[in-house]
Amino acid sequence: MTVLAVLLILAVLAIALFAVPAIRRRVVTPSIMNAMARALPRMGDTERIALEAGTVWWDGDLFSGRPDWKKLLEFQRKPLSARERAFLDGPVEELCGMVEEWKVEHEGDLSPEVWRFIKEKKFFGMIIPEEFGGLGFSALANSAVVTKLSSRSVAAAVTVMVPNSLGPAELLLHYGTEEQKRHFLPRLATAEEIPCFALTGPEAGSDAASTKSRGVVCRGQYQGREVLGMRLNWRKRYITLGPVTTLIGLAFRLYDPDHLLGGTEDLGITLALIPPDLPGIEIGKRHDPLGVAFLNGPIYGRDVFVPLDSIIGGKARAGQGWQMLMANLAAGRGISLPGLSTGAAQLCARVAGAYGTVREQFDLPIGRFEGIEEPLARIGGLAYVMSGARVLTAGAVDAGEKPAVVSAIMKAYLTEGMRTVVNAAMDIQAGAGISRGPRNVLANAYMAVPIGITVEGANILTRTLIIFGQGAIRCHPYVRTEMESVAKKDLARFDQAFFAHMGFIVSNALRCLGHAITGSRFARPSGVPVPAGAYLARFTRLSACFALVSDAAMATLGGQLKRREKLSGRLADALAWLYLGSATVKKFWDDGRPDEDLPFLKWGCEKALCEIESALVGVLENLPNRAAAWMLGIAIFPLGAHPRPPSDALGAQVARALLDDREERLRLTRDIYVPPPDDPGLGRLEAALDKVVAAAPAIAAVKAAVRAGKLTREPEGTLLERAFKAAVIDESALRRIREAEKARDDAIQVDEFDPRQLPHHAPGSLEAESSRR
Ligand SMILES: Cc1cc2nc3c(=O)[nH]c(=O)nc-3n(C[C@H](O)[C@H](O)[C@H](O)COP(=O)(O)OP(=O)(O)OC[C@H]3O[C@@H](n4cnc5c(N)ncnc54)[C@H](O)[C@@H]3O)c2cc1C
Repeated sequence: MTVLAVLLILAVLAIALFAVPAIRRRVVTPSIMNAMARALPRMGDTERIALEAGTVWWDGDLFSGRPDWKKLLEFQRKPLSARERAFLDGPVEELCGMVEEWKVEHEGDLSPEVWRFIKEKKFFGMIIPEEFGGLGFSALANSAVVTKLSSRSVAAAVTVMVPNSLGPAELLLHYGTEEQKRHFLPRLATAEEIPCFALTGPEAGSDAASTKSRGVVCRGQYQGREVLGMRLNWRKRYITLGPVTTLIGLAFRLYDPDHLLGGTEDLGITLALIPPDLPGIEIGKRHDPLGVAFLNGPIYGRDVFVPLDSIIGGKARAGQGWQMLMANLAAGRGISLPGLSTGAAQLCARVAGAYGTVREQFDLPIGRFEGIEEPLARIGGLAYVMSGARVLTAGAVDAGEKPAVVSAIMKAYLTEGMRTVVNAAMDIQAGAGISRGPRNVLANAYMAVPIGITVEGANILTRTLIIFGQGAIRCHPYVRTEMESVAKKDLARFDQAFFAHMGFIVSNALRCLGHAITGSRFARPSGVPVPAGAYLARFTRLSACFALVSDAAMATLGGQLKRREKLSGRLADALAWLYLGSATVKKFWDDGRPDEDLPFLKWGCEKALCEIESALVGVLENLPNRAAAWMLGIAIFPLGAHPRPPSDALGAQVARALLDDREERLRLTRDIYVPPPDDPGLGRLEAALDKVVAAAPAIAAVKAAVRAGKLTREPEGTLLERAFKAAVIDESALRRIREAEKARDDAIQVDEFDPRQLPHHAPGSLEAESSRR
């Protein structure tokens, strides 16, 4: 037999083994399936339930390596209705005007008038349908209200946000019995009932499912009758609105040791509605969340007896609490905190742009210094990205999606965005950002940052465990089917998914290489002109790279990947920035592609591309299987990896768009509250900005005359008078400059207090102070 014949026979055998399903399923697939069963991570019930909650949306496209840009760009979100717009321009505007954040901070609560107004205008009932007496708003409107309120008062925003996010109202809407809905929803809509939701306890923070709060099914006395119910014991903390609640949404583990419900002993996490005035409940103390004055505190219950119909959804829902929570978090996380973070980002863009124009040092507005341009660019660029992501995600929820992975991305990366933006704005305002008082607009947002980072799934956990961990299984085109078929020992289904998966890997590897060598030239979607189209092409390439690297990480690490949180955190970064980059282009597209917004579009896309590439490089550099990392490197970065942040020149364009009260700045910050000129904070700053901008040409004329030697700078006190006399400026210009200088001087002042007015003043401390002098 010739060598050729042997090779031919081997080739035929290989083809028969791998390409003929009937042979493959007998010879090859069973051992692959067994190996996979050994390698797969063990999954607990709580994880499985979390994985099953919600839907896969644009995240599925990003995981596929072939995002369908046409689908994204054509996606039309439901616009705000006339009623929702009127609410934003009416009651929300009015509420913003009523809240004085500094006073709220001092008094530790919103004023009674503000509380009354919130109740009267049904701010607590935004998600409750009109048929139950609520406002029946869309997710977009809910998020827009939070965005606007948070730009004025974090305390007011959080107070309004909580009853409209995961809690009694939302749970009742989805799972309540008809009787529960009819009784509670109208009362919740008008805040006759003030809800709180108590999940976290001292022992169960991030690992909320491990709660030690427990209920035992038993008989007991309730309102004079003996009924079948639950005896509850719990310790909860950090509960927002807890100190004033009239309706506790409580999460606990329910046991039925005497099998009174006829089923298993450990029924699982259960959610119930508990009135706070029952014997055994201790309530009313407060935590102090970094001085941000929303109401937050612990709630304790000892041997509290409630009937079984306290369970949300009744007896039939006993033990289903975790599913209920996960399903609602799947959408909710994408709305409230992202809305709050975007409000803070737009506020920072507005404040930093105005301050950078009004505040002068070294005879120049500080915004003109390159050093200040850097934080200004971060603020403007991120505010644009976050604004796009907010609207896109709320639109998806309104379209019926419950995108669990996208919502987790939104929660973690927008609150991180808020941290970056607020820090940058604080650096620009420097002393004026640090000295607290009515004039300071940033201090409260600064204090609120760690709260946003921590609540609704702390960011480290969300980034390193949830986003990629869940995404890899639920958004990947094949992994979930493979896992399910392994669990069910369904060989035919496994075989089909596994070999399609192999084809997917090979095709992604070839596409990565092709796009890298051709500069993604052939990945541009038709009908999308440059630069947006070119960015989409680069995102397509990186989406394919992400898909390939994800597969390699899963294949080489198997179940271990779950514990390799530094790697899965980087993969989460790549996925998150693919989403944020998509949202940036979508915003530009939906806003009508204004040329003036090009710097924002470019900054957002360049930032996203850099973050994705850096994350992928980080995975390759740290992947334990070095051979796989080397091969991946050849496929995805054949010409080397060069993650580049937005250039200095681009950053300068973004920074300039925020200065001088330009149209772009106003468009970027259109979702926030802008107070009238007599407001001591942003109002005063905006008024000064107007005057400084109006006087700018006249000031420039005086400076030019000085430079030309027509006027001498000294004595400075008479410079304007001399400029007027020398006809460099006319009388109205002189007046404009004087008004601008007065307003500028006023806007850069900070608050001063008599020590007795300060919250930390303790009796006797003044005497101690004077004795030290
Ligand atoms: C102001 C405020 C308001 C709140 N409001 C409410 C409310 O209304 N209702 C309610 O039920 N709860 C509420 N919470 C609780 C909040 O949800 C928890 O604080 C949060 O879940 C984190 O729990 P923890 O603080 O105990 O942190 P821990 O769970 O102790 O976590 C500490 C750190 O470890 C990280 N971590 C934990 N596990 C992992 C892991 N496996 N991998 C990587 N990192 C990990 C976390 O990300 C975090 O950075 C509130 C908290 C605050 C501060």
